[in-house]
Amino acid sequence: MEPLISRREALELLAPQRRSELRERAKEATAQHVVKRFDFCSIINAKCGKCSEDCKWCAQSARWKTDCETYDWIGEEACAAAAKEASEKGADRIGIVMSGRCAKGSEIDKVCAALRAMRRAAPDICLCASVGLVSRADLARMKEAGLQRVHCNIECAPSLFPSLCSTHGTADKLVTLRAARDLGLQICCGGIIGMGETDKQLVEFAFALSEIAPDSIPVNVLHPIEGTPLGDRDILDPERVVDSVALLRLVNPSTPLRFAGGRRDMSDEIAARCIEVGMSAGIAGPLLTTPGADFDDDRELALRAGYTVKC
Ligand code: SF4
Repeated sequence: MEPLISRREALELLAPQRRSELRERAKEATAQHVVKRFDFCSIINAKCGKCSEDCKWCAQSARWKTDCETYDWIGEEACAAAAKEASEKGADRIGIVMSGRCAKGSEIDKVCAALRAMRRAAPDICLCASVGLVSRADLARMKEAGLQRVHCNIECAPSLFPSLCSTHGTADKLVTLRAARDLGLQICCGGIIGMGETDKQLVEFAFALSEIAPDSIPVNVLHPIEGTPLGDRDILDPERVVDSVALLRLVNPSTPLRFAGGRRDMSDEIAARCIEVGMSAGIAGPLLTTPGADFDDDRELALRAGYTVKC
């Protein structure tokens, strides 16, 4: 669906004297355009750390000294067990997540075997994967093995990204996202707020997502991790979190906006206000390197806001 506001209006609505209007308009947009079904996904961190890339926010980059656990492939049995458990807990989907620039070769063989095992273990769950800047041919192989949705975040405004990562760029991500779309796969694409974006860059991020038109937009709030170059940043002001969600909602009126990293740094009161202005999906259980939301807490908040959930 097309944005409800122009780039200029979006910037104007972020001015301090217009922010209550921004939130009111986002609440109306949420009431009018968002499907009242709170979508929960779960992720399995199938390969962790030792990443060649230099993303400044990420504990998994081999370039930073962090306490991040590191391990190679977790195995298809563990993936299948996670899918079964997620399905039983009421998650709508589960994603295999692997650190690294891009899974390829034998790693793709392992992901394909895991997808098949996950399908057998949980026949009704949607299968997703977040395995980097994968080629079209490898996406096609994974689709054949049961993959339904591909996750690849643009992370932030394209104008901000080069200051946060030098080893790949937004254009590389768009290649994978376009290939996924061409193959008929669904797309999950969002990013992280609180990495120093200006109002203009927040607007740029929201409109870049609108152009990609994902099926789901994960909204992470930076959880600064000691040892990373962003480790000494302050946690984003909760009022700015609410305004950012409101803006994303007005620019992406009907796309599920998903709580992701940083949810545990938020009070339930702020989370409830984020739901009012547009959040409509979540990740249940542990995240990659930060604690995730408690499934029961977020299910309760969603139900209170008038959403239905799977169970
Ligand atoms: S965000 Fe992904 S590509 Fe970047 S350092 Fe972390 S694991 Fe590697």
